[in-house]
Amino acid sequence: MSKPPTLEQFQGCLIGQAVADALGAPWEGMPGDLLAELGPAERIVAHVEQRELRYTDDTQMMIGVVETLLAHGTIDVDALAAAFAENYDPARGYGSGARQIISAIGAGEDWRCLAATIFNGEGSLGNGAAMRVAPLGVLFSHDLERVVAEAARSSAPTHTHPIGIDSARLLAVAAALAARSARKRFKRGEFLEALLSYAETDEFQWQIDHALQLEPFESLIAFGNSVEAHRSVMTSIVCFCDSPDDYSAAICRALGQGNDADTLAAMTGALAGARLGLAKIPTQLVQCLEEGEQGRSYLLILAERLWQLAKRG
Ligand SMILES: [Mg+2]
Repeated sequence: MSKPPTLEQFQGCLIGQAVADALGAPWEGMPGDLLAELGPAERIVAHVEQRELRYTDDTQMMIGVVETLLAHGTIDVDALAAAFAENYDPARGYGSGARQIISAIGAGEDWRCLAATIFNGEGSLGNGAAMRVAPLGVLFSHDLERVVAEAARSSAPTHTHPIGIDSARLLAVAAALAARSARKRFKRGEFLEALLSYAETDEFQWQIDHALQLEPFESLIAFGNSVEAHRSVMTSIVCFCDSPDDYSAAICRALGQGNDADTLAAMTGALAGARLGLAKIPTQLVQCLEEGEQGRSYLLILAERLWQLAKRG
């Protein structure tokens, strides 16, 4: 039986995501090879002092997930849709599908038909359901069946494609396993084997199987770097698995993939923070994170409330 996550781990997950999301934000859409020409991602992270780190839609939607869990103890899908609409700030870099759905929810339309009919009636398979779900995995890390059920529900307002839903389930399980791995030697093979047992779609079964065959730090090219869930979520998970004890190294590798750099880094940052805790995230990065209504202090309050909720069981 693993120990319950500590306050530090909840803080690490939320702040780890927000910091990495904000570090990746200026580079979103830039091809990885062009980004590499500007210098290694390590340089971006090392020269952060000059600017405030502002997070994007990934973290704003994660806040909605956490607020819903705190208010209801579970994912109430109507409440989650309302939280997305309440928090929505179009300047945070939302994708076109999310913009359409969240604006419509805010105008009183029903998210059920919107989410299912978007993208030619197939539903979204973007990484938007996965990018917001990590704290849910940490909260329910003692019960992986509950993690997958809650994560699948959390995708409903915006992502109804099987790949979109599977990506949320898997990122949440990865966060739960990362939280469980705290204070122990990280076992990459065991982590990926456990993750594989929860993959429902062929795309993710293949990718996790492939990750199991790779040595750490081999090329991530097979996992992609774009907004589709099956072209980004395993990239982030493998970046964490290859540097499980070094927050900066893990997020720099994710960020350096380019393209959907903010989301890639955000997902890796949440996993690394959930394992390592807030103290292992460099202080100079945390200090640059934006303050204000839903800034750093608010994220720390949410983390503490989640920890309290976890203790109550
Ligand atoms: Mg974003």
